[in-house]
Amino acid sequence: MRILDQAQVTQLLPMGACIPLMASTLASLSRGEVDIPLRSVMRLRGSHDAFALMPALSAALPTFGAKVITVFPSNHARGRDSHQGAVLLFDGSDGRLRALLDGSSITAIRTAAVSAVATDRLARHDAATLGLLGSGVQARTHLEAHLLVRPFAHVRVWSPTDAHADAFADWARRSHDIEVAVCRTPRAAVEGADVVCTVTAAREPVLEGAWLEPGTHVNAVGASQPDARELDSAAVARSRIVADRRESLLHESADYRVPLQEGALAADHVVAELGEIVNGDVGGRATRREITLFKSLGLAIEDLAAAWHVLERAERDDVGVTVDLGGGR
Ligand code: NDP
Repeated sequence: MRILDQAQVTQLLPMGACIPLMASTLASLSRGEVDIPLRSVMRLRGSHDAFALMPALSAALPTFGAKVITVFPSNHARGRDSHQGAVLLFDGSDGRLRALLDGSSITAIRTAAVSAVATDRLARHDAATLGLLGSGVQARTHLEAHLLVRPFAHVRVWSPTDAHADAFADWARRSHDIEVAVCRTPRAAVEGADVVCTVTAAREPVLEGAWLEPGTHVNAVGASQPDARELDSAAVARSRIVADRRESLLHESADYRVPLQEGALAADHVVAELGEIVNGDVGGRATRREITLFKSLGLAIEDLAAAWHVLERAERDDVGVTVDLGGGR
């Protein structure tokens, strides 16, 4: 079995490779080639900390596996990633455990790559202003991924802790040579933006639909558990909704379920899965003025495909540590 740590995964999963990989993975999902149950999530000690199991298999891959991950939102203050865990890959021919890969880096990279696929397919071609709500791990990878799909000339960030937004802007200047305007309200980051990414640990809405200009594309990435929201009902009701997977949207997204229960959404409000758009079964943006919303819940098949990509390269270049777990006869 091969063990790959955070630095090795990050090196072997460049964002520029992960974006097309996620496009083809979501396309395969929407063709029915993938088997993923809804994830199993346990809440710890009555808190918002969670322990999740995300298994997946795909007819297109010679492996199957699971991400086993914890989400501790307060880790931010401890200097640790809020997502901790591993992706386990099993061999499709004999069921042997073949690899264990750092789950923090795979989650950080694949989630932003998926959002970039959505932005590429749904944002206006002349989108020039990116607004980020949140300044943590996902904000960083989302900036990196978005700079690869549109030449954003203006980037804004809002975060509840002003110092964290300032630190994000410093990091963006050093890492990407880009000036990021720090906003002191979420509204200031959103109004007039062509693309908005909500990447917060909010439990109540931080984005109001009234702030969205016609023609905006929104990637809603936080609130990936059924009791948290980032978007108010107006933001969802004003948008044409694209899901990573319909079944996940219906079961796991309060951003979708609450306005649906309020009667604010029509039955045809969800127009597609992102993979259906990649496959060309459903069109992307229809008009310059429509507001499009990609609701990302995060799918185990994204982790599996990313981990397999990393493992193939690690085996070729002999990266990582190998351990004999046993299991022979
Ligand atoms: P981080 O812990 O690194 O960052 C969290 C961010 O949310 C920080 O900017 C923090 O602001 C902000 N925040 C915290 N509490 C609130 C609040 N009550 N209202 C508004 N903002 C708040 O997390 P990540 O970047 O790793 O993840 C961001 C979100 O994305 C999380 O909800 C996570 O669960 C989700 N996620 C979704 C995935 C998917 O596939 N859809 C995959 C991975 C993560 P500050 O630091 O200024 O206090």
